[in-house]
Parts: sequence; C-alpha cells; structure tokens
Amino acid sequence: MSKCYVCDLEITRVLETDEHIILNACGGRLKSKKLICSKCNSEYGGDTDAELARQLNFFSNFINVKRDRGKSQPVEGELTTTGEKYSLYPGGKPIISKPVFEERIEGEKTKIAIAARNKKEFQKILNGLNKKYPQLDVEKALKYAKLEKKYLKNQLSFESTIGGEKAFRSVCKTAVNFYIYSNGDSKYIKHLIPYLKGTKDLEGYCQVFSVNSHKGFIPQGF
Ligand SMILES: [Zn+2]
Repeated sequence: MSKCYVCDLEITRVLETDEHIILNACGGRLKSKKLICSKCNSEYGGDTDAELARQLNFFSNFINVKRDRGKSQPVEGELTTTGEKYSLYPGGKPIISKPVFEERIEGEKTKIAIAARNKKEFQKILNGLNKKYPQLDVEKALKYAKLEKKYLKNQLSFESTIGGEKAFRSVCKTAVNFYIYSNGDSKYIKHLIPYLKGTKDLEGYCQVFSVNSHKGFIPQGF
C-alpha cells in the first residue's frame, strides 16, 4: 500500500483520492490515487491550485483545452473604444457579459430595446418588464426576437497576470506529484512540505518567481 507523501499515513480505501498530477484546469489527465491522502488533499493546495488555474484560464480557454472534469471559465474582455464588456467562452467566441437594456420615451410611447445572451434570459427580462408594463405582450415579443451574430466592431482587450507566490507553490506541487508518481523517494521532498502547506516560504531554496502582467488584443472581426 502507498503512503501519503505529506503525512506518511498509509492510503487505505477510505483515504483514497484521485490527485491530478498536472492541474485539471490545464487539461491534466494524468492522475494517481497513490500520492496523497484525501485528508491532506482537502487541507491544502486548493487555493494555490485555484490561483494557477485562474492565471492560466485565458490560455486553456483560448485553445479550448479539454478538461477531465468541467469546462474553462469565460475570460472577461472589453472593447477598446466603448469599454463594453464581453465574455470569451472556450474556443474564443465573445458574448456580451451582461444583458443590454435601453428604455426611451417617444411622445406617448415607451420604446424598449433588449439584447440578452440567450432566450431564457430574454424571457426573464420580459417577464420582469411585464409587471411594470402589463400591456406588454411577452409572447409577441418573444416571437419577433432575433438571434443575432455579428463581428466585433473593434478590438477587444484583456488582461492576464502570470506568476506570484501562490501560483509558484502550485507549480511546485505539480513537480512533487510527478516526482513521487515516477517512483521518487518522498524523503527527498520532505523539506518542501511546509512550503507546499504554506507554513514556510521558499527562502533558502530559490527565489525566481515574479509577477508579470500582460495586456493583449484580439484582432477586429474575430
Ligand atoms: Zn496525508
């Protein structure tokens, strides 16, 4: 039976957990039940892995990385001209980040323009409006609503940050996972455990991590 490389307990059936060696969020499929016990797994690593996943989300989203579990989160970008916000879903297709609502009074009439992300959202907005304007014919509005696909009028800008202490700790965990998975001896990585747990910093081992911000653009008409 394998031992947990963190607490040295034997990993019994009850303590088994599937540990992704490379983050699931990056498309990692290699996993093992022989590395870490479920108790230690739930005690640490969650926030550091989440941070690295958040930082790499733009890339896994854009190249549409297939995950073992779940899907990439949308990336938020904005038009360089108007600042209008768009969400980029896996595969890079931009959709408005939130519904757009415009109400205009023209003489006796009130004109309303709505752009929603899907039919369900559109219907919900109409139902809400129906309370304010009982004369509004929801069914008719739904019938005449158009599904519209258009190219972006301008460049979409986005920001991403790579690096930092938390992300680096997650990278270290990946390296340790892979080392143990490849039959490495856990006594050689014992000094890294307090670092992985977040109770000790990397001082004395290495200090090469840094934070780099990147700004990028998606070309017009993407
Ligand atoms: Zn353990």
